[in-house]
Amino acid sequence: MTRTLTVCPYCGVGCTFYLVSDKGRLVGVEPSTTHPVSRGGLCVKGWNAYAFVHHPDRLTTPLIRRDGQLRPASWDEALNLVVERLQAVQAKHGKDAVMFASSAKATNEENYLLMKLARAVFGTNNIDHCARLCHSSTVTGLAETFGSGAMTNSISCFDQTDVILVIGSNTTEQHPLIGSRILNAVRGGTRLIVADNRRIRLARHAELHLRHKNGSDVALLNGIMHVIIAEGLADREFIAGRTENYDALAESVADWTPERTAAATGLTADEIVAAARLYAGAERAMVVFSMGITQHSHGVDNVRCIAALAMLTGNVGRPGTGVNPLRGQNNVQGGCDMGALPDLYSGYQKVADPRLRDKFAHAWGVSSLPAEPGLPLTRAMDAASEGRLHGMFIMGENPMLSDPDQGHARKVLENLELLIVQDIFLTETAAVADIVLPAACFAEKEGTFTNTERRIQRLYKAVEPPGKARADWEIICDIAERAGYNGMRYTSPAEIMAEAASLTPIYGGIAYQRLAAHGLQWPCPDKEHPGTPIMHLDRFTRGLGHFSPVVHRLPAELPDAEFPFVLTTGRTYFHWHTGSMTRRTHLLAREEPHSFIELHPDDAARLGIRHRDMVLVSSRRGEVRTEARVTDMVIAGVLFMPFHFVEGAANALTNNVLDPESSIPEFKVCAVRVEKMP
Ligand code: SF4
Repeated sequence: MTRTLTVCPYCGVGCTFYLVSDKGRLVGVEPSTTHPVSRGGLCVKGWNAYAFVHHPDRLTTPLIRRDGQLRPASWDEALNLVVERLQAVQAKHGKDAVMFASSAKATNEENYLLMKLARAVFGTNNIDHCARLCHSSTVTGLAETFGSGAMTNSISCFDQTDVILVIGSNTTEQHPLIGSRILNAVRGGTRLIVADNRRIRLARHAELHLRHKNGSDVALLNGIMHVIIAEGLADREFIAGRTENYDALAESVADWTPERTAAATGLTADEIVAAARLYAGAERAMVVFSMGITQHSHGVDNVRCIAALAMLTGNVGRPGTGVNPLRGQNNVQGGCDMGALPDLYSGYQKVADPRLRDKFAHAWGVSSLPAEPGLPLTRAMDAASEGRLHGMFIMGENPMLSDPDQGHARKVLENLELLIVQDIFLTETAAVADIVLPAACFAEKEGTFTNTERRIQRLYKAVEPPGKARADWEIICDIAERAGYNGMRYTSPAEIMAEAASLTPIYGGIAYQRLAAHGLQWPCPDKEHPGTPIMHLDRFTRGLGHFSPVVHRLPAELPDAEFPFVLTTGRTYFHWHTGSMTRRTHLLAREEPHSFIELHPDDAARLGIRHRDMVLVSSRRGEVRTEARVTDMVIAGVLFMPFHFVEGAANALTNNVLDPESSIPEFKVCAVRVEKMP
């Protein structure tokens, strides 16, 4: 048996474990007892992370669509065709007629390379990845208020805090090892506030459970800030020394009395006052949030309010405090850090800045780079249906299932002039592609992932990829070479990281030999720097923290007579995103085998629906058949549905309205109807 250290391929907690292999096949995992995050523990997905690797559905050879069918091809044929057809689309419609979708499942090195391929080789800033669907509003909101869009503190800070406010995060199910850390902290005396109208597991351990209306987070946070200011609980010294624009914030929340907030949120005035006193009365308080906050048409506003709340009470820049967005995918933080974003190079350096464009162009050996920011992923579907986008190269993403308004996404993807998918399985998106490239998975390659606390960690190759599958970085380099570019001749991921680090100040001190133990947390600007567990210690990244006042706006689509329920979507403990890996893992598929929808017992009784009845759920965009789960997990009038399942796909119903600043879709609120199937 051989043990090979790696990083979990699922969530952003970034647990490490050993892959156990025997004669070239994975047979299990063993947690790493010394790792500062996992500390010898794993959740059920981590324990089973080896099981999909040898699944018979793995892609083993390139495929090219001929006569309507995907047929096996050689790498030479497939990659020559990739280059030929991408160039043909660009020759016909212009450079920006193609888009590259990178992957939060791929390594930092691969994300860096795909953005380099898009910009230096194909001359377009149309590069993005699924951060657009989960935390683009965090990046925008925190960049404006703090100067950096990442988690301010470390996971270890949950052991050192007095109060934790969890808002819009089902932490025990989505980030289980952080969830259990919070529960341990509560057992040790930390006080917990949960703001989420589902009765999530953490809520059972909370001193205060705020079941506010979907989409009323701005009202709630403004109301809490009103009480803090009115009762003299604000940290005047911190505000005076570390922040700007406080007066505008104070004015904007002046009208948010507990009574007005109660009316807007569905809570009582006493609950709002209690939350304000509990959070602001703590010596050290942390805010934890996730997609319940970000996936709204006002997601950036929600994040601005959270940043303001932390600054108002001086809860930034110390252990046990901070604003802590929990990143979803295992390397979504790294995908952002490496510049797989339409307006930013690696390290959040703006493509609009001519100095930075020159720096990258010089390093990459090209005469110029495109100046105009590219398309966000969520605007790609509309661009394609309007005739502005004709080709997509999608690496390790499955928009057919993950994008809102599935019917629209399907139509667009099927009608593209060129669709290339690089993945480990024939996903729903790959199934309609023109060319499919088989990739190696996390266990079959080297590289680094960056977890939610900005920790850059190495993964090591445990087994060989199946058939002719190759690592994403090798495929990208081969495409670049065939496109006539000779600036991507690397012999190892370490070499790619060395180049990325040289161009990316926050990764400036990252080198493979320094990551051997438990990685390093960025910012790590030089080779002597020890990494940064807590950001914004003496000053914010932008200098002074900025208070951004926010006006409360309602969700874009509210219930009415025709569609009387609010639908909200999310994940379950046993599955991950579009299920391409977890639904091919026997134990996980057995525990949660199919789609379902939660509805409140009062609603169920009124509609004559019983537990496990099949129901038809419809919205203005589509309809799905699924199984009813009658439960008080949800409040009356609200339905919850996971989005992992192709049969009963929640995103057939969701609304593709976007936040105007971050382009994140409003996955968390849309109006639906539910009825019992005959
Ligand atoms: Fe993997 Fe996240 Fe579970 Fe850790 S908590 S084992 S990183 S899915």
